[in-house]
Amino acid sequence: MQSVKQAESIILDSVQPLDQKLDTEVIELSAATGRILANPVKSELDFPHWDNSAMDGYAVRYCDVQSCSAQQPAVLEIIEEIPAGYQPQHTVEQGQAARIFTGACLPKGADTVIMQEQAQREQNRVLILEAPEPHAFVRRRASFYQAGMPLLEPGITLNAPEIAVLAAAQCTQLRVYRRPRVAIISTGNELVTPDQPLQPGQIVDSNQYALATFVAQMGGVPVPLGIVPDQPDVLREKITQAIATADVVLSTGGVSVGDYDYVEQILTSLGAQFQVRSVAVKPGKPLTMATLSSSSERCVLYFGLPGNPAATLVTCWRFVQPAILKLSGLARESWGPTFVQAQTCQELRSGGKRETYLWGQLKLNAGVYQFQLAGGGHNSGNLISLAQTTGLAVLPVGETVVPVGESVQVLQVGSPINS
Ligand code: AMP
Ligand code: MG
Repeated sequence: MQSVKQAESIILDSVQPLDQKLDTEVIELSAATGRILANPVKSELDFPHWDNSAMDGYAVRYCDVQSCSAQQPAVLEIIEEIPAGYQPQHTVEQGQAARIFTGACLPKGADTVIMQEQAQREQNRVLILEAPEPHAFVRRRASFYQAGMPLLEPGITLNAPEIAVLAAAQCTQLRVYRRPRVAIISTGNELVTPDQPLQPGQIVDSNQYALATFVAQMGGVPVPLGIVPDQPDVLREKITQAIATADVVLSTGGVSVGDYDYVEQILTSLGAQFQVRSVAVKPGKPLTMATLSSSSERCVLYFGLPGNPAATLVTCWRFVQPAILKLSGLARESWGPTFVQAQTCQELRSGGKRETYLWGQLKLNAGVYQFQLAGGGHNSGNLISLAQTTGLAVLPVGETVVPVGESVQVLQVGSPINS
């Protein structure tokens, strides 16, 4: 049995990220939300594109106003009015100024902007009442970004700020990584779909839905392959199909040591290289991870996840999530996992033999993280208590209790709730 740390690094080492050339596609900027940039982006534009004003006021020559005051104002003749989007027509000469508005081009000759609150307008003259700093309120051309320099690096996720930068740089088409395809298989004779009436002993295959959502949230394409009964030949066929079509396969159930647990034996018969067979984690001990090569020589990652819904999600958050994020082309610093220190609102208990993950809510109270244990007990079969989970408190091997108010490490799995 491997430790959590060992399993984590073995799994990550097994992941080969999508290829920067072969596994990419060109998309429109309008469809780029959440995608991962595959190529470095540069712009031929400077930012700002020209010297411009940061204020509504007057564009002046610094030397004309450097020693003025309320008692001895500088008196300047206004030669032009320059709103945003207008190209100045005149040069500001000695003793002159131009009326200017935020974002408008600075006229030739001017090097400083006086905000209108520090000026007094008199018809076609303006009185400057206070000496400014040199270059005050001037945004210099290229002071934010110089044409030709790197603008955005590959491996970043495109969210609102990056999309704004790309739009401003007139980059309307871009190359991004394709989304990883993740096949999902639920194994178990007891499983039915949510629309089927339940017979005694049957339960709904909730894992299929949980995993499809999880995969989509990771930026992947879920490929739901449905429920497979605990029959080796049917399961073998389904797993073969999954390997042929996906980058990653997630199956749930059938990886324990029960009489109906066939996943490991089928993977062996398909020539899988086992990387992880069991992990000292609670819940999730039977976690299995193997690599297989598909017919096109691609390396496919196979995760055999435990069937218990809580164990399924805990192992996904802890082990599958960083693997999918690495695969997807994201830069190293974004693979996670993200841990924070939080104050526990309840006493936390563990058997101490395996690294234990307790689910609940990560909260922010006046800037301090708090962890609220989910109610209803920590049975990994208790699916209901999983709702609203945003954090998993981690009790290391050997630590059997964390008293109320003490600090505990929490794996963040959602946005913390303000309390
Ligand atoms: P297994 O790992 O196959 O022994 O399953 C462990 C437990 O998880 C059993 O109680 C199953 O009924 C339950 N389980 C297995 N697969 C699913 C699934 N897809 N959705 C919900 N519960 C499941
Ligand atoms: Mg089963």
